[in-house]
Amino acid sequence: MRYELEPHHRNVSDQELINDLARVASDTNASAVTIDTYNEKGRFHATTLTRRFGSWFKALELAGLKKTRNLNISNEMLFQNLVEVWTKLGHQPKYSDLSKDVSLYSSGTYEKRFGTWRKALEAFVSWANEGVSPPTSQTVPSGVIGRKTLRTVNWRQRAIVLMRDGAKCQLCGVTPQSGARLHIDHVIPWSKGGETVLENLRVLCEQCNIGRSNVSEDDI
Ligand SMILES: [Zn+2]
Repeated sequence: MRYELEPHHRNVSDQELINDLARVASDTNASAVTIDTYNEKGRFHATTLTRRFGSWFKALELAGLKKTRNLNISNEMLFQNLVEVWTKLGHQPKYSDLSKDVSLYSSGTYEKRFGTWRKALEAFVSWANEGVSPPTSQTVPSGVIGRKTLRTVNWRQRAIVLMRDGAKCQLCGVTPQSGARLHIDHVIPWSKGGETVLENLRVLCEQCNIGRSNVSEDDI
């Protein structure tokens, strides 16, 4: 997953975004494109499109693609969305928090899948906790010599670090409620030998993260 700084795409026209979505659909020979597929193959980040058009489904509609609502939403996608919602809100999401502004899926979708909202959160926490186990040799391609982990912070690690650090900047204390955008930062940069393990990860706000290092290197 790539992180795209928002200002970079301000000048991209609606049509370019829609065209790129249509291109991914055609490249993958599919009648609809999931967010995960788009993030893998698209030129932009799916959130750039959802912000611009209001929702992923609206973007699909504008691109003349079929809606994928509720068809192929994996638990993994539901959990990843919860990580994003948690990051935006700065606290454990409540049933009533999953508005279109912050969430790709409604609370009802979670309820249907897991029985109750509480059970959805419990399933989310168990899923996240699977990220606690130490990295295995399989997590790093053989080409990355001398490293135990990849630079990329996975979704489970993001979830755990967010919950552990209380979704606030560990340097200045700012929270999303006051408008801050949160990143997951490597305490010792990955490029300087820091590994992508929970002990070396923390929540920082965008400002502190930019002040501290090259932003393209260590953010999410
Ligand atoms: Zn800060």
